[in-house]
Amino acid sequence: MVTAVVGANWGDEGKGKITDMLAQEADIIVRFQGGANAGHTIVNKYGKFALHTLPSGIFYDHTTSVIGNGVALNVPVFFNEVKSITEKGVPMPKLLISDRAQMVMSYHILFDQCEEERLAGRSFGSTKSGIAPFYSDKYAKIGIQVSELNDMEALREKVNNICTLKNVMLTGLYGKEPLDPEAIMEELRSYKEMLAPYVKDTALYLENAIKEGKNILLEGQLGTMKDPDHGIYPMVTSSSTLAAFGAVGAGIPPYEIKKIVAVTKAYSSAVGAGEFVSEIFGEEADELRRRGGDGGEYGATTGRPRRMGWYDAVASKYGCRLQGATDVVLTVLDVLGYLDEIPVCVAYDIDGKITTDFPTTSELKKAKPVYEKLPGWKCEIRGIRKYEDLPENCRRYVEFIEEKIGYPVTMVSNGPGREDIIYR
Ligand code: GDP
Repeated sequence: MVTAVVGANWGDEGKGKITDMLAQEADIIVRFQGGANAGHTIVNKYGKFALHTLPSGIFYDHTTSVIGNGVALNVPVFFNEVKSITEKGVPMPKLLISDRAQMVMSYHILFDQCEEERLAGRSFGSTKSGIAPFYSDKYAKIGIQVSELNDMEALREKVNNICTLKNVMLTGLYGKEPLDPEAIMEELRSYKEMLAPYVKDTALYLENAIKEGKNILLEGQLGTMKDPDHGIYPMVTSSSTLAAFGAVGAGIPPYEIKKIVAVTKAYSSAVGAGEFVSEIFGEEADELRRRGGDGGEYGATTGRPRRMGWYDAVASKYGCRLQGATDVVLTVLDVLGYLDEIPVCVAYDIDGKITTDFPTTSELKKAKPVYEKLPGWKCEIRGIRKYEDLPENCRRYVEFIEEKIGYPVTMVSNGPGREDIIYR
């Protein structure tokens, strides 16, 4: 059976923890989109890890980790990550890399940096991992697929063409040194050698695994709000963050995805610029940021402080709908135990019109949050394993959110560890 674990918000909902937890019962975990621009934080018996490219199921020896064709594969970052986990005592994982995955090249990162420099204060808040230039090239059909490493001669011609195009911009617009085709070929030769043991037709591998009844997890990066079609365009990422894209980015039939676990956080946080209706500021935000996540809400990749806000039921209802949620996990509920009252954004006021439907970005800019306040529970809920054992106000909060978003909250996460989970 195939299950997708995806974000219903802006990312950082705790998908890593949920994937790591569900991976106990899984055979294969697949990354299907995105690159090393976002991270998952996982806490387990080996320590605390920030993963960027490796799937979160990497810590078990019974699982196989697959880098799907939809991923932006940064080869050196990928292998450094493998090294960093094996150095901490994690057994060498079983890894497969799709022969149709494309590689993030050093010039993609360079272009990302040049563009952020050029835009200065007006930037998109890119992590400068080369993701936007990578996906631009992929769809402009000048990206480089792993399978192309099999014919270095043909690749040389392609690289010459890439340099001709890129150098006009590099020298003309950004005032930088031009790219040297030979240096790029050298980069590709080193990638070829590193990747060789892991490359496979992973779509065919997954087809067989599905036939054999294996449990497969598709692990999404970021969340609905960062989807290039359905998110807060243009402050989005460059590949689809939706479960539907899991079929494309892993190379499996869409109807095989039977379960879609949408992860939503008990309050809101976001990194980078973009519309964020229920955002809070000042001391109120600082306190939530300090107490949030596992040791504060700071980006797993960048260390940037995350923007904070109250739970947004409008954005989350939309987030779950576009994901096609069959199950919702409400995470980091334990963090809210300090509050006397907890505001929840239940609607948007757009020019005096009240709506619970998430609009396009231009409308969203005008939206003001409509809050309802719920009583807090004022105690520690970590360690609780049964839903009935949660304080009444805490259950009320969960049920209120469930009613507002209209999708079943089947799991509640009350701590960063694998075992910190309550099934309903
Ligand atoms: P992801 O990108 O969706 O995997 O999210 P991140 O890993 O970047 O951020 C989630 C953070 O919250 C991590 O530091 C997790 O260890 C932590 N976390 C996940 N679930 C819970 C939870 O239920 N309670 C607490 N306190 N922390 C959690």
